[in-house]
Amino acid sequence: MYGSTHPWVPRASAPGRVSALHEAEMLDMPAEECLDRLTRLAAGLLETPAALVNLLDDEREFCKSAFCSAGKYAAGQSSPLERSFCLHAVVSRRPVVIPDARLDPRVSRHPAVIRGEIGSYLGIPLITRDGHAIGSLCVLDAVAREWTARDVALLSDLASSAASEIDLRRELLKRSRYEAALELERACLEQLFTSAPDGLVLLDPHDRVLRVNPEFTRMFGYSEEEVVGRTINSLIVPDGSQGDATDLTSRVAAGQRVAAEVTRRRKDGTPVSVSVLGAPIEVERGQVGVYGIYRDIGARKEIERLKEQIPAIVCHELRTPLTALRGSLGLLAGGLMTARPERGREMLDMAVRNTERLLRLVADLLDMERLNAGHVSVEARWYPADELIAQALEVVRPAAEAAGVWLIAHSAKTRVWCDPDRIVQVLINLVANAVKFSPAGATVWLGVEEAGPEVVFSIRDQGRGIPAEKLSAIFEPFEQVEMMDSREKGGTGLGLAICRRIADLHRGRIWVDSAPGVGSTFFLGLPAPGDGRAERTGAERPAPVPASRV
Ligand code: ADP
Repeated sequence: MYGSTHPWVPRASAPGRVSALHEAEMLDMPAEECLDRLTRLAAGLLETPAALVNLLDDEREFCKSAFCSAGKYAAGQSSPLERSFCLHAVVSRRPVVIPDARLDPRVSRHPAVIRGEIGSYLGIPLITRDGHAIGSLCVLDAVAREWTARDVALLSDLASSAASEIDLRRELLKRSRYEAALELERACLEQLFTSAPDGLVLLDPHDRVLRVNPEFTRMFGYSEEEVVGRTINSLIVPDGSQGDATDLTSRVAAGQRVAAEVTRRRKDGTPVSVSVLGAPIEVERGQVGVYGIYRDIGARKEIERLKEQIPAIVCHELRTPLTALRGSLGLLAGGLMTARPERGREMLDMAVRNTERLLRLVADLLDMERLNAGHVSVEARWYPADELIAQALEVVRPAAEAAGVWLIAHSAKTRVWCDPDRIVQVLINLVANAVKFSPAGATVWLGVEEAGPEVVFSIRDQGRGIPAEKLSAIFEPFEQVEMMDSREKGGTGLGLAICRRIADLHRGRIWVDSAPGVGSTFFLGLPAPGDGRAERTGAERPAPVPASRV
């Protein structure tokens, strides 16, 4: 019986046929005027009551355009494939000419034929430019009819036009899909470029900068406008390294991919350790430029350096107090307490002092290690600068009192973007140092003020000062001005190194001005988030608070 699976249905699934049809995005879509014009024309030229454009996917026949004087067929309708006359045109890829449907074994049992609705049929396959038969243009009549060669030729021409319209539409859609994909890819690459955590640079074939990303400008301190058009080596290569840098760039220019760990310089002349990867940018016609990826490896180098120092540190810094401790305990164990109680007392005090020093050292070493390993995160928020100073003073006050040193704080209603606990830790260290290195009766001043985009704390003392050649070294672990400073003053030699790391974590900076014999001023500069100006409330200038002996 007609209606069971049509033996030709499986043959409608020629590879690529259905995807070609879907590419045109015509199924279940509104009518297309260009196809409606063709069905109108077909019915008019061949003088038939109906002309249709049917499209066939794997499961159904979709009527894309219908011209029908009796209103029997309408665009947008779907019917099962096994009922499709057009299936024969699609599968055979040839015109299907049925003068009398009742006599044609292919369709004689079709319900519409039995009901007398279709008496004759002429269908021409719609074949796309890439050879897929995706449907047909057909005309039909309720009565039997002889189709002439002219009818077949006319309808074939119209079917070619319909196929061309469909091809055109596929082409346009393909192009707009391609453009959308291109746009997406461009947007992804752009975001990758701008948000990359490494410094990226694109160079033309003459090593002139075409583009840099924000991380590059941050790393080297140039703005994009300052670098575009200039040769990369003239910007970031230190004077002594020009030869090596030229060697690198010429290897990349020759098509090689080059990786190296080198020192480059920032705009302000300071060195920066970077790993650099340079590689050619190639397109079909050859090399059109070069890209470079710069990664700041300063922190890693510093950790490597510190790791190398660890055995020496353990030997020296831990062994010295341990040896003293063992000495004291040895004497006490030998009966010193009973033989010479006074001396025994001294030995006990010494043992306690050395134990405390060991504990402080271990605590600072752990702190340092956590900071270096990146295990310390800064939980920044706006915090009143005055409160930071007050908290630091509270801790240092007893030591200042014991040393007979005056502490004077200048207040300012500035607020600072920082992790308060960490910044208080830095201030305590700086004020405690100022107290330690000041003579009795001297004064230590604490101030804070806005300077451009930074809030700068200053800690000024009247101590012995620091010689010029030590001004930057003292921020390195275990560096001190005098060999015995840490031991004599009860420090660990790690305080300033820890302070510097905390400042780094805030993207801030720490430095010192000093005149030997006159005193030192330590500064801690903290930027506002996003490098905007710090928030200020209340007074414009720092106002002095009354001097207080603490
Ligand atoms: P410590 O924890 O031993 O104090 P720091 O890292 O804080 O170590 O300081 C390192 C060295 O810097 C000190 O041993 C001292 O030589 C020098 N220093 C620090 N602050 C001052 C200061 N205010 N005046 C003079 N020298 C200082």
